[in-house]
Amino acid sequence: MDRNIRSRCWLSVPGGWAMPVVLGFEGSANKIGVGVVRDGTVLANPRRTYVTPPGTGFLPGDTARHHRGVILDLLQEALTEAGLTSQDIDCIAYTKGPGMGAPLVSVAVVARTVAQLWNKPLLGVNHCIGHIEMGRLITGATSPTVLYVSGGNTQVIAYSEHRYRIFGETIDIAVGNCLDRFARVLKISNDPSPGYNIEQMAKRGKKLVELPYTVKGMDVSFSGILSFIEDVAQRMLATDECTPEDLCFSLQETVFAMLVEITERAMAHCGSQEALIVGGVGCNLRLQEMMETMCQERGARLFATDERFCIDNGAMIAQAGWEMFRAGHRTPLSDSGITQRFSVFFHRYRTDEVEVTWRD
Ligand code: MG
Repeated sequence: MDRNIRSRCWLSVPGGWAMPVVLGFEGSANKIGVGVVRDGTVLANPRRTYVTPPGTGFLPGDTARHHRGVILDLLQEALTEAGLTSQDIDCIAYTKGPGMGAPLVSVAVVARTVAQLWNKPLLGVNHCIGHIEMGRLITGATSPTVLYVSGGNTQVIAYSEHRYRIFGETIDIAVGNCLDRFARVLKISNDPSPGYNIEQMAKRGKKLVELPYTVKGMDVSFSGILSFIEDVAQRMLATDECTPEDLCFSLQETVFAMLVEITERAMAHCGSQEALIVGGVGCNLRLQEMMETMCQERGARLFATDERFCIDNGAMIAQAGWEMFRAGHRTPLSDSGITQRFSVFFHRYRTDEVEVTWRD
């Protein structure tokens, strides 16, 4: 449906605003963002990242403390950048999950408070749905097979019958988590992100070190590869058999090839002519290049975004919230908590648990 038709539909909703403005809060991991979206336009999207020293990851309590320290400044920044006041906002959206518990709670508390102070409806948004809706908005992809790759998630998704169906996923850690943890082993800087620095080092890699290739049907596994390369790094770097750059290159080539393989199989199954990459790992240009090659060979189109929109941000939550708000969703205060889990073992708040009422 094109955007003009969409806004006309909205006008026909009794009591609806002509151009609803949604403000979205995101803070499920080490990024905190506040975004403002009006009818398909991103008006503001400021973000801060909690960066820890090389060799360390981010712990939930410290990350939540960081988010609490900057969230009100970010809110003010977003309103100023959008040129709006609280009166112009029609709905407050926030990330309900999945993600890290303490950061999620710190952001949900602010979203709930702001909604009550400003007397606006509240919407709890699934983080994964936020990534997908932002990708669709920015690229204009209509019905893509989605590769969602980040520090916390790895899924191949396609829309059907009011759900984003999961065709394949990691059975242990996310691909971004594998890259981040390898960066810690090599004491690679976390600024601006470990993945970005691995990508730069990989460009200077010359030797492909053979690593396990673990595709299991439509699923992938990264924890064994991580253990293997940690071991290899100790041994081969000590004897100068390879360089840290070679290892970054080898790790990227191996894990990205696995992701391309399962995405291609899902596209073949769905007869899909479009692929869309979302999530923080999605701004890796080598991954985009490998996906592009696969798409070209199948006569399909690749859609991807840059770091502003594929790395966690507030506008993605505002955009998913905008779709939900328009479709009549509201989250009552009594149900405005958070949920951490996305795991296949716990069956809570996975991408395919959300009923996508805003699509045909
Ligand atoms: Mg994410």
